[in-house]
Amino acid sequence: MEIILAKSAGFCFGVKRAVKMAFEDSDEETYCIGDLVHNPIVVENLKKIGVKPYNENITNKKVIIRSHGIHKKLLDKIKSENQVIDCVCPKVKYVYKLVEDHKDNYQIVIIGSKNHPEVIGINSYADDKAIIIETLEDIKYIKNKPTFIVSQTTSNQNFFENAINMIKSILNDDIIVYNTICSATKTRQDEAVELSKKS
Ligand code: SF4
Repeated sequence: MEIILAKSAGFCFGVKRAVKMAFEDSDEETYCIGDLVHNPIVVENLKKIGVKPYNENITNKKVIIRSHGIHKKLLDKIKSENQVIDCVCPKVKYVYKLVEDHKDNYQIVIIGSKNHPEVIGINSYADDKAIIIETLEDIKYIKNKPTFIVSQTTSNQNFFENAINMIKSILNDDIIVYNTICSATKTRQDEAVELSKKS
């Protein structure tokens, strides 16, 4: 059987950075909140060097914050009680900042999966009031008022474009759209489509 490897296969910038930081700074006194990255081998190797799962009773230890982030209130609690190894991808933090800067004057809309840790984290910078668009059905929850839209960094590009077109067709107020799908995600989605034509 021929195996075709996608050119973009492997760790993206954010995961590479998170793995480097976590392995450099961790020891047996380190805890991680959720899985550092979506990769079972990395998670297993962290366990081997003594990293354990975080729980809310942990204090005065090192705590790794995973690459796709956590809720702001939980981050503040962990920071006040522990030393943080902040592995959140800068591209995710950029979305936090966009949302935080616009939440007072716009209804915030996030195109993404409601239960994904990254979306929960982004929403926390909108005081947990963002409207999450996971399916086109969810668009009915958007009110006709100034709206600021971002995306989960790993959303599907086609779904994002369809959702934006539909939102623009029903809202007649001020809309600002930031396509915050990460370039690494987009490259992989495009490459998966190309490879599927050959294999
Ligand atoms: S935002 Fe992009 S670069 Fe950062 S961890 Fe996610 S996929 Fe990787």
